[in-house]
Order: sequence, then structure tokens, then C-alpha cells
Amino acid sequence: MMSDYTPSLTVDLDKIRQNTRYLTGLARERVGAGVFGVTKALSGSPEVARVMLEGGCCGLADSRFENLRKIRVAMTDWPEFQALPLMLLRIPAPSQVRQVVETADISLNSEWKTLQLLSQAAGELRRIHQIVLMVDLGDLREGIWIDTGNPSNLISLVRNTLTLPNIKLIGIGTNLACYGGVIPDRAIMERLLKLAFQIEQVCDYPLEMISGGNSSAVPMLLDGSMPKGINSFRLGESILLGKNVIDRSDLPGTRQDAMICRAEIIELQTKPSMPRGVTGQNAFGEQARYIDRGIRQRAILALGRQDVVFDGLTPLDPGHIILGASSDHLLVDVSDSRTPLRVGDRILFIPNYGALLALATSPYVAKHYVSSDDDR
Ligand SMILES: *Cc1c(COP(=O)(O)O)cnc(C)c1O
Repeated sequence: MMSDYTPSLTVDLDKIRQNTRYLTGLARERVGAGVFGVTKALSGSPEVARVMLEGGCCGLADSRFENLRKIRVAMTDWPEFQALPLMLLRIPAPSQVRQVVETADISLNSEWKTLQLLSQAAGELRRIHQIVLMVDLGDLREGIWIDTGNPSNLISLVRNTLTLPNIKLIGIGTNLACYGGVIPDRAIMERLLKLAFQIEQVCDYPLEMISGGNSSAVPMLLDGSMPKGINSFRLGESILLGKNVIDRSDLPGTRQDAMICRAEIIELQTKPSMPRGVTGQNAFGEQARYIDRGIRQRAILALGRQDVVFDGLTPLDPGHIILGASSDHLLVDVSDSRTPLRVGDRILFIPNYGALLALATSPYVAKHYVSSDDDR
């Protein structure tokens, strides 16, 4: 039976809808902004995409066109949402411009060469492709680097982009707290607004989208420091996991248990906690450390590094301690388990973002979509 297949990832659609509703409401009430629901951590799952739209997202976004394509196909059965835009988050690869124009209404961009190719592909497909120019305000991932002073590099890219026949420049965006861990603040958002204003002087029409970033912007919405004018956000982790991504604390108003990972006990034995013999590197070239807790009850679960980033898992039972993992085995100290365990029982975990990404991507992990009322 499918529901018995392990390991598995259980996705509670009601909780995701609830989180989405809260966050889209927050963005709307605080600064009148719309939210694109980001589906990449669940490989563009149409089930999740749909509840994000039901929760009030004004569009969907993913880093891969393959995921957007899946959503696009599913959307043909959702007439009420069909007109909403799909946005590609990762800067398009020059070799994939045709697929990008076919699947995405909007893409985020920073390269002149790629913009030219996108325009060409859009012409061949007889479409107008919308683009948002990304600016790097310090985090050092994607975007045109903006030094203090005159943003001449951005302005000349804008001028060039305006000459492309099949591209429409609709906005400007930035991404923070990704590579550099730069925390969004009012000064950074005001720089973004000023750049938007400078672009509007050149293009002579108002920009539709001033995209103030990912989940790391949510704390600014909560504390009221987000300036008006920032009118779009791209939210993934805060919706899916209910986390403040600046410090990984719980976001008030959201659920943290929409995603549950379950794995089955395949061995349950009592063993010492220190390896016996001379120790060198483990199977992954790491010099592991061992804590001597004496003789312990240890479970081996059918879940491994092929499926998950194991240190991103938090056991639901606080008595369970994750000891380590190899490709296919997860070792858990269950001596202090709140309930007695047997071989064949499941142990439950809440994944962090990295663990969720891997679980969703692993073909060995069964995905179950449930409603809170369903029996888990
Ligand atoms: C992944 C991604 C997001 C969403 O980030 P979260 O922290 O999950 O909200 C937003 N923008 C871009 C460009 C991304 O790549």
C-alpha cells in the first residue's frame, strides 16, 4: 500500500494554505504588496502550487523551467487561476531561452546576452516575454552590482533592454540573505526604490513590479519597517516551513509542521555509543566525533544521504537523538524515546529547508499530500 511506503514526506496542504493566507494578508495589509508563491523546494508540486494560489498568491515562481512546465500543465484544469503569471527565479541559461519563454511569463535577469536571446526566442514564439532586472544590493548572488553613486551600469542595461522588440521590462528586484546572509533593512529597500525611480525616468512608464525579495523580507513586514512602494515578494520557506529565515525562529501566525518526514526502523539493537577499534575516516571522508553515552538503544532507519540532508532533520520526539547517516542508513539513539519502539515502526521528523529540498527531490521518498483532518 502506497501509504505504507517509506521513507515518506507528508505535505499538509491545509497548513500550507493557512500559512500562505497569513503571509499574503500581511504583505497586502502592511505595504499593499502581492506575493509569488515559490514552489522549488517541492520540485514544482502542482498540489502545493494550487494551495498557494488558494491562499492568495498573485502568481507562482520556481527556479527551474521544468517545474514551471509541470505547474503550467496542471493550471489548465484551474480556470480560476489560469490568468496568473508564472515567474522563473533563476537567471535563464542562454541555452534554455526557448523553454523559458515557452513556460514562464516573467523571468529574472541580469545578463545582456541572455536578454537578447530571450527577445529572439520570444519573437520566434510570437510572444512578449516580461523581465525583471535583478540588482545586487550586497548579498553577492545574482544581479547587477550597484555601487554607491551613479548606477550607470544598470541604466545602460535598461536603455539596451528597451530596444529589444519582444521583451517588456516590468520591474526590478533584489535577493538577500542567500549567499552573503545580508539581512534586509529599510536602507537597502530604499536603495531599491530609488533605483526603480531612476529606471522609470529612463523608460518613461511606471514599473509594475518592485520585488523586495524572498522570505528574509518577512520580518520587515512584521516589524513595520518595510517601506511602501515595495510591491512584490517571492516567498517559499516562510510559507512551507513557517520560519523566520533570518534566525530560523518560528514565524508568529504560521504553522511549522506542514512537512513531516517518516522513516522506518529496520534494526533496533542495544550497542555501545563508542566505536570499537582504531577509528579513521567514515564512509564520507569525515573524521566523525562520538559522544560516550554508555550502552544505548539504537535504531537504524531506512533513510540516508541519498534522500535527505540528515542534520537538517529534527525528531518530533525530543527523546530521539540523530547520531549520523550513511548513504542509506540513518542512526538514531532512541533510548529516551517517549514511546516504546519496535522494528517496523516509523520515526517522524520535521525537515529544515535543505532537508526538505532533498526529500522532495529523492525518487526514493514517497510524497503524501494530506489535509489536516486526514489521518496521518
Ligand atoms: C528561492 C528563491 C526565492 C524564495 O526564497 P525563500 O527564502 O524560500 O522565500 C526568492 N527569490 C529567488 C530569486 C529565489 O531563488
